[in-house]
Amino acid sequence: MTEQLVADSRRAQSPLLSVRDLQVEFTTSAGIARALDGVSFDVQAGETLAILGESGSGKSVTSQAIMALLPKPAGSIVGGSILYDGIDLAKEPVSRVRDLCATDIAMIFQDPLSSLNPVFRIGDQVAEPFRRRLGMGKKEALARALELLKRVGIADAERRISNYPHQFSGGQRQRIMIAMAIALKPRILIADEPTTALDVTVQAQIMRLLAELQAETGMAMILISHDLGVVADSASRVAIMYAGRIIETGGIREVYDHPQHPYTKGLLDSIPGAHAMGEPLRPIVGSPPNLLDLPAGCAFHPRCPIAVPECRAAVPSLREPEGAALGHHVACIRAEEVRSHD
Ligand code: ADP
Ligand code: MG
Repeated sequence: MTEQLVADSRRAQSPLLSVRDLQVEFTTSAGIARALDGVSFDVQAGETLAILGESGSGKSVTSQAIMALLPKPAGSIVGGSILYDGIDLAKEPVSRVRDLCATDIAMIFQDPLSSLNPVFRIGDQVAEPFRRRLGMGKKEALARALELLKRVGIADAERRISNYPHQFSGGQRQRIMIAMAIALKPRILIADEPTTALDVTVQAQIMRLLAELQAETGMAMILISHDLGVVADSASRVAIMYAGRIIETGGIREVYDHPQHPYTKGLLDSIPGAHAMGEPLRPIVGSPPNLLDLPAGCAFHPRCPIAVPECRAAVPSLREPEGAALGHHVACIRAEEVRSHD
């Protein structure tokens, strides 16, 4: 089968996670901010979806909504659905979603220290899910923790298992958080900027580790980043976010090679290395909009190099532009022109 046929037949299966028209609002002293406005995507078993966008575009809010981690009472889901295994997580009580996530949907963050307790030994923390969820005794759970620590690449794990979080480097702590996340063999791992705090070499090692673990366990991954370069080799599909909406989505090679939204094109143009030597970097001018005061029509139009008056008239919906590959959707009325100029 060709790659395209394989992709099509996969898409025909029912997805593991299906997010539809998700709406999230935050009540702030200055008003109500619509942090997610109609976000939809599917994640198939075993695949990696990258969610990309500048800081503040709604990436973390998306993962918080899935895991029932929206800060209460300010943040809440006000519309849409999050279907997992026949259950709509958007409508279940927080306690039920957290319980389900503890075994099925795991998450890792940019800052491992926020999920590691400074006063407990690493071994006990990694062993904890085995004890609490699987009812193992201390010795057996510690043996499983040791196995996991070795698997994620903690050198001299027999000795290190008795150390405390502050005795590890940032990269090692990220490995330990990954060990805790995969302990119960989740079906989905959400990685929210997992390598943003790490230097480039360690970043690459962590991305390699995640890919290996995914191949071994068959788990699906949602890989969140503001850095298009970091996820390029790891994801099969990508969703690009801007001001709480997905503005472009498709196969990662198609989107990277033929971006059709001016925002995506701008993000790709700002990656170091995407340019010939000596050519200056061209970051996107301006900054993301204030959600309490969104521009009329397309939220990107004030920063867009090809905006026309019609761009202010209505919020563009995702559509398949002429010439785009199957599954490549773009929310821009001028998408065809972006492609013809690439
Ligand atoms: P990122 O894409 O950088 O992960 P987030 O998803 O964290 O961005 O946030 C998206 C937007 O949602 C923010 O720019 C902000 O306007 C709003 N937001 C997020 N968290 C809160 C909060 N706790 N209170 C109010 N607004 C929030
Ligand atoms: Mg974030």
